Amino acid sequence: MTNVAKQLTEVRSRIASACARSGRDPSGVRLIAISKKQPTEALVAAARSGQNIFGENYLQEALGKIGPVEAGAGRPLEWHFTGPLQSNKTADIAAHFAWVHGVDRLRIAERLSTQRPAGLPPLSVCVQVNISGEDSKSGCLPEQAPRLCADIAALPGVHLRGLMCLPQAMEDPESTRPAFRALRQLLDSIRASDAVDPGNFDTLSMGMSNDFEIAIEEGATQIRVGTAIFGTRDDR
Ligand SMILES: *Cc1c(COP(=O)(O)O)cnc(C)c1O
Repeated sequence: MTNVAKQLTEVRSRIASACARSGRDPSGVRLIAISKKQPTEALVAAARSGQNIFGENYLQEALGKIGPVEAGAGRPLEWHFTGPLQSNKTADIAAHFAWVHGVDRLRIAERLSTQRPAGLPPLSVCVQVNISGEDSKSGCLPEQAPRLCADIAALPGVHLRGLMCLPQAMEDPESTRPAFRALRQLLDSIRASDAVDPGNFDTLSMGMSNDFEIAIEEGATQIRVGTAIFGTRDDR
């Protein structure tokens, strides 16, 4: 077994334990392998161990990896764009990904909607919320989220699926619990309003290597895990 295969098995068993602790069905938690800065072989190893969903942050890097990784895996995979969004990148993102996690303004959602190629299903998107006053400039404010979600839900080329957050990594993962809980409450309140179709708006994209178990306890439906699967990377 490769290291990646072993670490993936370990992450899967930690997901199962967190689900058991919180009375959740593990099929309700999708694992996104965050493969930014990882070489093609590492992604192929993960795919050969059954991993189907990959998250990439850097467009050019991703465009160079998707083909070779799918060829190595021998099957198509589901690609999520999890990096920061810039207007000049939206056309390629709309063409090559199934999901986009960090949508935080209407302009970007409109571009993704318009640029989604005909023939592909609408692009699944999550609205990124700056839930805990992160320093990072990305994410809408919680009070802006209902309106932004209503506006995005009306676009034809995207499919609004839920909310995403990226709280600052804390040494003690318990410190992130309030942010996860707040994102879940925000999702519930938007679902209860008539801004969105609640049947399609049920994704909570939250939790990373350091805190995914806590995110699962707080209701995460998609966790984004890089280091715990692939080991450390050189962050630029
Ligand atoms: C890099 C990244 C992750 C994964 O982080 P790890 O700590 O390596 O698990 C998750 N989500 C986003 C948006 C990222 O940029």
